[in-house]
Amino acid sequence: MIIAVPREVAPGERRIALVPEAVKRLVAQGFEVWVENAPPECDFPDAEFEAAGARIVNIQELYEGADMVVKVRPPMEHPDTGKHEADMLREGSCLVSVLQPFQSPDVIKRLVAKRITSFALDLMPRTTLAQDKDVLSSMSTIAGYKAVLLAANDLPKLMPMLMTAAGTLKPARVLVIGVGVAGLQAIATARRLGAVVEAFDIRPAVREQVESLGARFVAEEAIAVDAEQASGYARAQTASEQERMRDLLTRHISEADVVICSALVPGRRAPILLTRKQVEAMHPGAVIVDLAADQGGNCELTEPGQVVVHGGVRVHGPENVASSVPVHASQMFARNVRNFVMHLTSDGSLDIDMEDELTRGTLVTRDGKIIHDDVRADMEG
Ligand code: NAD
Repeated sequence: MIIAVPREVAPGERRIALVPEAVKRLVAQGFEVWVENAPPECDFPDAEFEAAGARIVNIQELYEGADMVVKVRPPMEHPDTGKHEADMLREGSCLVSVLQPFQSPDVIKRLVAKRITSFALDLMPRTTLAQDKDVLSSMSTIAGYKAVLLAANDLPKLMPMLMTAAGTLKPARVLVIGVGVAGLQAIATARRLGAVVEAFDIRPAVREQVESLGARFVAEEAIAVDAEQASGYARAQTASEQERMRDLLTRHISEADVVICSALVPGRRAPILLTRKQVEAMHPGAVIVDLAADQGGNCELTEPGQVVVHGGVRVHGPENVASSVPVHASQMFARNVRNFVMHLTSDGSLDIDMEDELTRGTLVTRDGKIIHDDVRADMEG
C-alpha cells in the first residue's frame, strides 16, 4: 500500500501530515511512503524523508500512484496545478485528513464523485482509545502554549516575580477562560513563566485540573453542573447563564494583565465572554489572546488574523496557531496519523470495520456515498 504525503498548499500553512520519524515507522511496518518534493529551505527537506525510507515524487506522480493520501488541511484548489486537490485524487483511493465536512460540503461532493474513501481526523470520537489519534487535541496543546508566548512577547511587563537589587517586580496576572486542552496548556505555560494564574470554565470537572496546575479557579458560582455533554464537549449556555458568568468574571478580567480565551462549543459560534465594556475596564498594556478567533472569537473586539488595539489593550485573534510551531505540530500530527493508519489497516491493507467506533466516527465517504450519518443529514438538510 502506497501512503502519500503532499506538501500543504493553504496560504501560510507550514505543517506536514507525516514527518520523517513517522515515515520510518510506517516503512518498517511494510508500507511504501511517497512524499512530494519540496525546496531545500522548507522545514521538512526531501533528504530527511529519503533517509527515513520515503520515495520523493512530484505532485502528478503522487496523486496518480497513491493508495492513501494523508493531509493536514482539507482539500482545496491547488495553486500550481489549477485543479482542486479532491479532484486530483485517484478514483477509489483513500484520503485521511482534517476535512471540516460541515463547513465544506463542496469538498464532500467532490470526494463522493471520485468514490474516495475519506476519513475526517477532526471527527475523531473522544474516547480513551482515540486519544493518541486525536489531532485536535495535539493542535490545541500547541495553541495553548503559543498563546502565552504571544502574550508574554507583547506585554510591557515581565511574567515572573523578580527580587532584584533594583527592587521587587510583581508577577503578571493571567486569566484563562475556557479550560479544554488549549486552556490547560496555557495555564501550565503561564505558570512555568512565573505568572499568577486564574482560570474559569463552565464544566465542573475542570476545577481540580486547574488547581493541580497551581492556578486558582474563579467565578465558581457560574459553573453549570450539566455543562458537560456525553460527548465530553460543553453545551451552549443560555443568555442568562452567560450574563451571570460575565458579571462574575468582570473583576478578574479588569485585574488581569493577560486574558487567554479558548472557550468553544462544537458546531456553533464561540460564546462571547469578553465584552467591549469589559475590555474598556482593563488597564492599558493588557493583552488578550483569543484562541477562539477562528470560530468568531470569545471577545467582542476580536478580528480573526489581526491585532486590534482598543484603549491601550491589545486583542490578538491569531489563526492557525499550530502552524507557527511547524516542527512539533507536525511531529504530533504525524504520530496521530500514523496511529490512525495502523488502526485502519491490517497486513498493510485498508481494513474497514464499521463496528469499530473510530472508523464509524470518522469515515465520511465511500463507494460514491456519504457514509457518515451527521454529515449526510447536514448536507441533505
Ligand atoms: P473545546 O475546545 O471544545 O472547548 C474549550 C473549553 O471551553 C472547554 O473546556 C469548554 O468546557 C469551555 N467552554 C465552553 N463554553 C464556555 C463558556 N461559555 N465559558 C467558559 N468556558 C466554556 O474543548 P477541548 O479542548 O476539546 O476539551 C474539552 C474536554 O474534552 C476536556 O476535558 C478534554 O480533556 C476532553 N478531551 C478528551 C479527549 C479524548 O478522550 N479523546 C480528546 C479531546 C478532549
